[in-house]
Amino acid sequence: MLPVIALVGRPNVGKSTLFNRLTRTRDALVADFPGLTRDRKYGQANYDGYEFIVVDTGGIDGSEKGIEIEMADQSLLAIEEADIVLFLVDARVGMTVADQAIANHLRKQEKKSFVVANKTDGIDADSNCAEFYQLSLGEVHHIAAAHGRGITLLLEQTLQPVIAELSALNDDGTGDDEELVDLYAEDGEEIEQEAFADKPVKLAIIGRPNVGKSTLTNRILGEERVIVYDMPGTTRDSIYIPMTRNEKEYVLIDTAGVRKRKKVSDVVEKFSVIKTLQAIEDCNVVLLVVDARDGISDQDLSLLGFALNSGRSLVIAVNKWDGLDDYVKDRIKSELDRRLGFIDFARLHFISALHGTGVGHLFESIDEAYASATKRISTAMLRRIMDMAQADHQPPLVRGRRVKLKYAHAGGYNPPRIVIHGNQVHDLPDSYKRYLMNYYRKALKIMGTPIKIEFREGE
Ligand code: GDP
Ligand code: GDP
Repeated sequence: MLPVIALVGRPNVGKSTLFNRLTRTRDALVADFPGLTRDRKYGQANYDGYEFIVVDTGGIDGSEKGIEIEMADQSLLAIEEADIVLFLVDARVGMTVADQAIANHLRKQEKKSFVVANKTDGIDADSNCAEFYQLSLGEVHHIAAAHGRGITLLLEQTLQPVIAELSALNDDGTGDDEELVDLYAEDGEEIEQEAFADKPVKLAIIGRPNVGKSTLTNRILGEERVIVYDMPGTTRDSIYIPMTRNEKEYVLIDTAGVRKRKKVSDVVEKFSVIKTLQAIEDCNVVLLVVDARDGISDQDLSLLGFALNSGRSLVIAVNKWDGLDDYVKDRIKSELDRRLGFIDFARLHFISALHGTGVGHLFESIDEAYASATKRISTAMLRRIMDMAQADHQPPLVRGRRVKLKYAHAGGYNPPRIVIHGNQVHDLPDSYKRYLMNYYRKALKIMGTPIKIEFREGE
């Protein structure tokens, strides 16, 4: 599970600046869900090797309506969902009444909170920050977000211990696929997938509110061949439901909270971006549900972006396909083509969760995607395909010399990674990279998962 860090503090202390810096290395993907999450922004962060989810809570003013109301309105949820709260203060402005109010609130929470004094560039940080110790939240960390200073140290001190604690707590026993990488065949023919055969496929059903996730989950669980065991959720609010279908085992990660028994506490929204991000992170296959009647919204694209970033297998269900006339269906299909055309690996299904139409077929693509993602491919095979691709269509000349691909081997799977060594490979144009990717996809019959190709200079 990825740790979740929430940024809180008054407006103008530098939260957005820090947010942007943390998410920069991994194309900042910001999910903005108007009406649902107010001013919160979510991003997948990968900073100096630290991976986490970062939430920018928007400004807490703390003055006019009283801090508690503001907090409840804006940041309470973000704080509640977070593992770590970074409380930003402005080293140049010094301590304010609003800072004290926020600190009072944080001290009452059982959350790991850290005071972070920003804008320490060009000032005497030690003497300017001393007063923040009065906030009684422990050490005051100095950073200059705009210049990227102090951030790695901060993460090392705050994030590291929490990651260690979380991984001890969250070990759900289903195991990671990492240890299987060294089972990769160095040579010889394709190897059977027995290592994966007895592992349930973890399926995350995600989508924005009202697209039909709950209806679909109930439909899947309601089918008679499915045996359901309820299990308490292991992370925040998602519920993990083991189920069997056609004698195959799955674990359905229910982000819609269908099977949740406890009364949902008032502050917890039905839809949670964090829950969705964690489910994506923890699953093998993402089932993204979209609403045929609404078309593809920016929110759908945000969720899609998160799924793509994570490298998970993906199946897309276009739901509410019932009761539409052919003209409307055609129009929707061409819109999907236009907006989703860039994803060439995911199967698209037109379903009606309400009537059950097409739901069974989803599992064919889910199984296919999982098999593709975990498929073991030998070095010999990867090399042969590389040679064939090169023979069919030569790499281009760069500065008068031909780019030459020399050697290929597997770099891991889930998603499949292929490492190609050669001369001037860093100059390969994107068009040729895409050609290679498609060539591998066709030759290996890989569908439902992205393929990552890494290029390395030399042997
Ligand atoms: P937010 O309202 O808390 O999200 O604050 P912003 O990130 O929008 O930053 C407010 C202002 O502070 C902007 O003008 C930033 O350029 C500036 N700022 C942010 N970080 C730093 C820093 O490390 N040093 C200095 N000098 N200015 C900063
Ligand atoms: P969730 O918020 O994504 O879990 O969405 P729900 O499952 O609660 O569904 C939202 C609304 O869409 C409900 O009124 C459902 O009855 C309706 N709905 C769900 N699936 C379908 C479908 O396949 N066809 C139609 N016509 N309505 C559907």
